[in-house]
Amino acid sequence: MENGAAPTVPAVIVAIDGPSGTGKSSTSKAVAAQLGLSYLDTGAQYRAITWWMVTNGIDIDDPHAVAAAAGKAEIVSGTDPAGPTITVDGVDVAGPIRTQEVTSKVSTVSAVPEVRSRITELQRSIAAAAPQGIVVEGRDIGTTVLPDADLKIFLTASAEARAARRNGELKGADVNATREALIKRDAADSSRKTSPLAKADDAVEVDTTDLTLPQVIECVVTLVEEKRAGK
Ligand code: C5P
Repeated sequence: MENGAAPTVPAVIVAIDGPSGTGKSSTSKAVAAQLGLSYLDTGAQYRAITWWMVTNGIDIDDPHAVAAAAGKAEIVSGTDPAGPTITVDGVDVAGPIRTQEVTSKVSTVSAVPEVRSRITELQRSIAAAAPQGIVVEGRDIGTTVLPDADLKIFLTASAEARAARRNGELKGADVNATREALIKRDAADSSRKTSPLAKADDAVEVDTTDLTLPQVIECVVTLVEEKRAGK
Protein backbone atom coordinates (compact mmCIF):
# COMPACT_ATOMS: atom_id res chain seq x y z
CA MET A 1 0.00 0.00 0.00
CA GLU A 2 1.17 3.51 -0.78
CA ASN A 3 1.57 4.71 2.78
CA GLY A 4 2.91 1.38 4.02
CA ALA A 5 -0.16 0.66 6.18
CA ALA A 6 -1.36 -2.95 6.41
CA PRO A 7 -4.39 -3.69 4.21
CA THR A 8 -7.51 -3.39 6.32
CA VAL A 9 -10.39 -5.84 6.21
CA PRO A 10 -13.74 -4.47 7.39
CA ALA A 11 -14.91 -5.81 10.76
CA VAL A 12 -17.24 -8.77 10.39
CA ILE A 13 -20.04 -9.70 12.77
CA VAL A 14 -21.01 -13.39 12.89
CA ALA A 15 -24.07 -14.56 14.87
CA ILE A 16 -24.22 -18.27 15.77
CA ASP A 17 -27.46 -19.47 17.39
CA GLY A 18 -28.99 -22.82 18.19
CA PRO A 19 -30.04 -25.13 21.03
CA SER A 20 -27.68 -26.70 23.61
CA GLY A 21 -25.28 -29.41 22.52
CA THR A 22 -25.07 -28.45 18.84
CA GLY A 23 -21.38 -27.51 19.13
CA LYS A 24 -21.99 -23.73 19.23
CA SER A 25 -19.24 -22.89 21.73
CA SER A 26 -16.50 -25.09 20.27
CA THR A 27 -17.34 -23.96 16.74
CA SER A 28 -17.62 -20.25 17.59
CA LYS A 29 -14.34 -20.19 19.51
CA ALA A 30 -12.42 -22.01 16.76
CA VAL A 31 -13.88 -19.87 13.95
CA ALA A 32 -13.02 -16.67 15.86
CA ALA A 33 -9.46 -17.90 16.54
CA GLN A 34 -8.88 -18.91 12.91
CA LEU A 35 -10.14 -15.61 11.54
CA GLY A 36 -8.58 -13.31 14.18
CA LEU A 37 -11.97 -12.20 15.55
CA SER A 38 -13.19 -11.64 19.10
CA TYR A 39 -15.57 -14.18 20.67
CA LEU A 40 -18.55 -13.72 22.98
CA ASP A 41 -20.38 -16.54 24.82
CA THR A 42 -23.74 -14.95 25.67
CA GLY A 43 -24.91 -18.07 27.53
CA ALA A 44 -22.09 -17.45 30.00
CA GLN A 45 -23.52 -13.97 30.67
CA TYR A 46 -27.00 -15.37 31.42
CA ARG A 47 -25.38 -18.00 33.61
CA ALA A 48 -23.37 -15.28 35.40
CA ILE A 49 -26.43 -13.19 36.24
CA THR A 50 -28.20 -16.38 37.39
CA TRP A 51 -25.22 -17.25 39.62
CA TRP A 52 -25.39 -13.73 41.10
CA MET A 53 -29.15 -14.07 41.81
CA VAL A 54 -28.67 -17.45 43.50
CA THR A 55 -25.66 -16.25 45.51
CA ASN A 56 -27.53 -13.16 46.70
CA GLY A 57 -30.62 -15.08 47.79
CA ILE A 58 -32.97 -13.66 45.11
CA ASP A 59 -36.11 -15.80 44.70
CA ILE A 60 -35.71 -16.72 41.05
CA ASP A 61 -39.30 -17.95 40.84
CA ASP A 62 -40.47 -14.38 41.53
CA PRO A 63 -40.06 -12.45 38.23
CA HIS A 64 -40.54 -9.11 40.04
CA ALA A 65 -37.65 -9.83 42.40
CA VAL A 66 -35.45 -10.93 39.48
CA ALA A 67 -36.42 -7.84 37.46
CA ALA A 68 -35.66 -5.53 40.40
CA ALA A 69 -32.19 -7.08 40.80
CA ALA A 70 -31.39 -7.30 37.07
CA GLY A 71 -29.16 -4.21 37.00
CA LYS A 72 -27.16 -4.92 40.14
CA ALA A 73 -24.42 -7.31 39.03
CA GLU A 74 -21.45 -6.02 37.06
CA ILE A 75 -20.73 -8.64 34.41
CA VAL A 76 -17.49 -8.42 32.41
CA SER A 77 -16.69 -10.77 29.51
CA GLY A 78 -13.15 -11.25 28.15
CA THR A 79 -13.44 -11.88 24.39
CA ASP A 80 -10.14 -13.55 23.43
CA PRO A 81 -11.20 -16.87 21.82
CA ALA A 82 -8.00 -18.49 23.13
CA GLY A 83 -9.05 -17.78 26.74
CA PRO A 84 -12.50 -16.27 27.20
CA THR A 85 -13.20 -15.02 30.74
CA ILE A 86 -16.24 -13.99 32.77
CA THR A 87 -16.37 -12.09 36.04
CA VAL A 88 -19.19 -10.81 38.24
CA ASP A 89 -18.32 -7.85 40.46
CA GLY A 90 -14.67 -8.72 39.85
CA VAL A 91 -15.02 -12.41 40.86
CA ASP A 92 -13.98 -15.09 38.32
CA VAL A 93 -17.13 -17.22 37.90
CA ALA A 94 -16.06 -19.40 34.96
CA GLY A 95 -16.35 -22.53 37.14
CA PRO A 96 -19.41 -21.74 39.31
CA ILE A 97 -21.61 -20.83 36.30
CA ARG A 98 -21.36 -24.42 35.00
CA THR A 99 -22.84 -26.10 38.09
CA GLN A 100 -26.03 -28.13 37.87
CA GLU A 101 -27.78 -25.59 40.09
CA VAL A 102 -27.09 -22.67 37.73
CA THR A 103 -27.87 -24.80 34.64
CA SER A 104 -31.27 -25.76 36.06
CA LYS A 105 -32.19 -22.14 36.88
CA VAL A 106 -30.77 -20.15 33.97
CA SER A 107 -33.81 -20.50 31.67
CA THR A 108 -36.11 -19.05 34.36
CA VAL A 109 -33.86 -16.05 34.99
CA SER A 110 -33.17 -15.42 31.30
CA ALA A 111 -36.90 -15.31 30.49
CA VAL A 112 -37.34 -12.10 32.53
CA PRO A 113 -37.49 -9.11 30.10
CA GLU A 114 -35.47 -6.78 32.38
CA VAL A 115 -32.65 -9.37 32.46
CA ARG A 116 -32.72 -9.69 28.68
CA SER A 117 -32.66 -5.96 27.99
CA ARG A 118 -29.75 -5.47 30.39
CA ILE A 119 -27.69 -8.33 28.90
CA THR A 120 -28.63 -7.43 25.30
CA GLU A 121 -27.33 -3.88 25.82
CA LEU A 122 -24.06 -5.28 27.18
CA GLN A 123 -23.73 -7.64 24.20
CA ARG A 124 -24.28 -4.86 21.66
CA SER A 125 -21.65 -2.64 23.26
CA ILE A 126 -19.10 -5.51 23.29
CA ALA A 127 -19.80 -6.30 19.60
CA ALA A 128 -19.49 -2.64 18.60
CA ALA A 129 -16.09 -2.36 20.32
CA ALA A 130 -14.49 -5.44 18.70
CA PRO A 131 -11.77 -4.07 16.37
CA GLN A 132 -11.69 -6.84 13.72
CA GLY A 133 -15.20 -8.09 14.34
CA ILE A 134 -16.65 -10.81 16.55
CA VAL A 135 -18.33 -14.20 16.65
CA VAL A 136 -21.28 -14.02 19.07
CA GLU A 137 -23.00 -17.25 20.08
CA GLY A 138 -26.37 -17.65 21.77
CA ARG A 139 -30.07 -18.15 21.18
CA ASP A 140 -31.37 -14.75 19.98
CA ILE A 141 -28.30 -13.12 18.42
CA GLY A 142 -29.47 -13.20 14.79
CA THR A 143 -33.07 -12.35 15.62
CA THR A 144 -32.73 -9.71 18.34
CA VAL A 145 -29.27 -8.77 19.57
CA LEU A 146 -27.51 -8.21 16.22
CA PRO A 147 -30.17 -8.36 13.49
CA ASP A 148 -27.74 -6.64 11.07
CA ALA A 149 -24.98 -9.26 11.54
CA ASP A 150 -22.99 -9.93 8.35
CA LEU A 151 -23.54 -13.66 8.66
CA LYS A 152 -26.08 -15.64 10.70
CA ILE A 153 -25.70 -19.36 11.34
CA PHE A 154 -28.28 -21.59 13.05
CA LEU A 155 -26.79 -24.87 14.29
CA THR A 156 -29.05 -27.87 14.87
CA ALA A 157 -28.55 -31.57 15.73
CA SER A 158 -30.77 -34.46 16.77
CA ALA A 159 -31.64 -34.69 20.49
CA GLU A 160 -29.65 -37.95 20.69
CA ALA A 161 -26.50 -36.38 19.23
CA ARG A 162 -26.82 -33.34 21.50
CA ALA A 163 -27.27 -35.44 24.65
CA ALA A 164 -24.34 -37.68 23.70
CA ARG A 165 -22.07 -34.64 23.22
CA ARG A 166 -23.12 -33.09 26.53
CA ASN A 167 -22.53 -36.42 28.24
CA GLY A 168 -19.02 -36.49 26.85
CA GLU A 169 -18.45 -33.14 28.60
CA LEU A 170 -20.11 -34.19 31.89
CA LYS A 171 -18.18 -37.41 32.40
CA GLY A 172 -20.19 -40.24 33.92
CA ALA A 173 -23.62 -38.57 33.66
CA ASP A 174 -26.75 -40.56 32.78
CA VAL A 175 -27.42 -40.02 29.05
CA ASN A 176 -31.23 -40.23 29.43
CA ALA A 177 -31.25 -37.68 32.24
CA THR A 178 -29.00 -35.37 30.18
CA ARG A 179 -31.30 -35.74 27.17
CA GLU A 180 -34.42 -34.93 29.23
CA ALA A 181 -32.74 -31.91 30.85
CA LEU A 182 -31.63 -30.58 27.45
CA ILE A 183 -35.08 -30.99 25.93
CA LYS A 184 -36.66 -29.24 28.93
CA ARG A 185 -34.23 -26.29 28.74
CA ASP A 186 -34.67 -25.91 24.97
CA ALA A 187 -38.46 -26.00 25.34
CA ALA A 188 -38.30 -23.24 27.98
CA ASP A 189 -35.88 -21.17 25.85
CA SER A 190 -38.01 -21.59 22.69
CA SER A 191 -41.35 -20.80 24.29
CA ARG A 192 -40.53 -17.70 26.34
CA LYS A 193 -42.21 -14.47 25.22
CA THR A 194 -39.14 -12.21 25.02
CA SER A 195 -36.57 -13.08 22.32
CA PRO A 196 -36.95 -16.87 22.33
CA LEU A 197 -34.49 -19.33 20.79
CA ALA A 198 -35.31 -19.03 17.07
CA LYS A 199 -33.72 -19.16 13.64
CA ALA A 200 -33.58 -15.79 11.90
CA ASP A 201 -35.21 -15.81 8.44
CA ASP A 202 -31.86 -14.99 6.82
CA ALA A 203 -29.77 -17.47 8.85
CA VAL A 204 -27.96 -20.41 7.22
CA GLU A 205 -29.02 -23.63 8.96
CA VAL A 206 -26.29 -26.23 9.50
CA ASP A 207 -27.36 -29.67 10.80
CA THR A 208 -24.33 -30.97 12.72
CA THR A 209 -25.77 -34.42 13.60
CA ASP A 210 -23.48 -36.32 11.21
CA LEU A 211 -20.61 -33.82 11.05
CA THR A 212 -17.39 -33.82 13.05
CA LEU A 213 -16.38 -30.62 14.86
CA PRO A 214 -13.59 -29.85 12.30
CA GLN A 215 -16.17 -30.21 9.50
CA VAL A 216 -18.56 -27.75 11.17
CA ILE A 217 -15.71 -25.28 11.77
CA GLU A 218 -14.58 -25.52 8.15
CA CYS A 219 -18.12 -25.00 6.92
CA VAL A 220 -18.58 -21.82 8.99
CA VAL A 221 -15.10 -20.44 8.15
CA THR A 222 -15.88 -20.92 4.44
CA LEU A 223 -19.21 -19.11 4.82
CA VAL A 224 -17.49 -16.15 6.55
CA GLU A 225 -14.76 -15.99 3.89
CA GLU A 226 -17.34 -16.06 1.11
CA LYS A 227 -19.22 -13.26 2.81
CA ARG A 228 -16.04 -11.21 3.11
CA ALA A 229 -15.24 -11.80 -0.55
CA GLY A 230 -18.69 -10.44 -1.37
CA LYS A 231 -20.04 -13.68 -2.88
O1 C5P B 1 -25.34 -21.57 25.89
P1 C5P B 1 -25.67 -22.00 27.30
O2 C5P B 1 -26.22 -23.38 27.36
O3 C5P B 1 -24.54 -21.77 28.24
O4 C5P B 1 -26.83 -21.01 27.73
C1 C5P B 1 -27.41 -21.09 29.00
C2 C5P B 1 -28.81 -20.50 28.98
O5 C5P B 1 -28.73 -19.08 28.80
C3 C5P B 1 -29.75 -20.96 27.88
O6 C5P B 1 -30.38 -22.19 28.21
C4 C5P B 1 -30.75 -19.82 27.83
O7 C5P B 1 -31.71 -19.92 28.86
C5 C5P B 1 -29.89 -18.61 28.14
N1 C5P B 1 -29.49 -17.88 26.92
C6 C5P B 1 -30.40 -17.00 26.37
N2 C5P B 1 -30.04 -16.23 25.32
C7 C5P B 1 -28.82 -16.33 24.77
C8 C5P B 1 -27.88 -17.25 25.30
C9 C5P B 1 -28.26 -18.04 26.38
O8 C5P B 1 -31.52 -16.90 26.86
N3 C5P B 1 -28.48 -15.53 23.75
